Amino acid sequence: MNPYYRDYADFLGERFEGKVQKLPVDAGFTCPNRDGTLGHGGCVYCNNRSFSPLEGKGKSIREQLEEGKRFFSRKYPAMKYLAYFQSHTNTYGPADKALALYREALETDDVVGLIIATRPDCMPDSLLGELAEINRRTPVIVEYGAESSHDPTLRRINRCHLWQDTVYAVRRTAAAGIPVGLHLIMGLPGETEKMMLTTVDRVSELPVDTVKFHQLQVVRGTRLAADIAAGRESVETMTVERYIDLCCKIIKHLRSDISIERFVSQSPGDMLISPRWGLKSGEFVERLHSRLSQI
Ligand code: SF4
Repeated sequence: MNPYYRDYADFLGERFEGKVQKLPVDAGFTCPNRDGTLGHGGCVYCNNRSFSPLEGKGKSIREQLEEGKRFFSRKYPAMKYLAYFQSHTNTYGPADKALALYREALETDDVVGLIIATRPDCMPDSLLGELAEINRRTPVIVEYGAESSHDPTLRRINRCHLWQDTVYAVRRTAAAGIPVGLHLIMGLPGETEKMMLTTVDRVSELPVDTVKFHQLQVVRGTRLAADIAAGRESVETMTVERYIDLCCKIIKHLRSDISIERFVSQSPGDMLISPRWGLKSGEFVERLHSRLSQI
């Protein structure tokens, strides 16, 4: 039991018996912020190379899940799995196609639930209704990329949606009986600590179940990296200590029944420009807990 905040294991433990492991799958979805439907070029921090259709990878959902299962089942034969539709916008496109992919995941042995990551402006009522129906039989969790609650920031990073879209999506999803997760990025261009904590306060007012925090990463091949290199944009490169301080404040601001799934993300070393902390997520959490124990 984590004495400092409610963590993701607590959230999962209330919903599933025994050990469950998320298995990321790339279902070949694209993104409306890249194909011109909402915008071009995508969010400034998003790497183009992450966009490769499923056909290019040549693996079905079932094959990806079976591959992931092989890795974990050696150590934990009784493990159950959650299919995590992680890459890109996993509710974008024809609903029939999306539902067929979700079903394929759920028909894979030992898969006991779905986690679907998407944009807050990409959840039509009809699809939400279908997900609510699935959720009556098998757990479904929807994660929205909110990133910030500040519209000037969202415009500056070319998200092509506003905070109101997040509020609307979260309320509708919760009203449909589906647990909701949010992704938030700390250290976005132009954001002060006060602004970041205001976002945490606003999230705490919503019917949110889980949150993932990410430190802003400047990644090669992104518009953000190009803009910084050209002097058109600047961001604070936080030290680990500075980010740990911030995370301690975030924990104080976040409603206590919201589970925190993570505080840091890790882009591949050859793609990451900054910050280069060289810490794994678990190592960061250890340092954070050590700090929290001294407060
Ligand atoms: S971060 Fe998400 S919404 Fe933004 S361009 Fe990339 S996939 Fe699309």
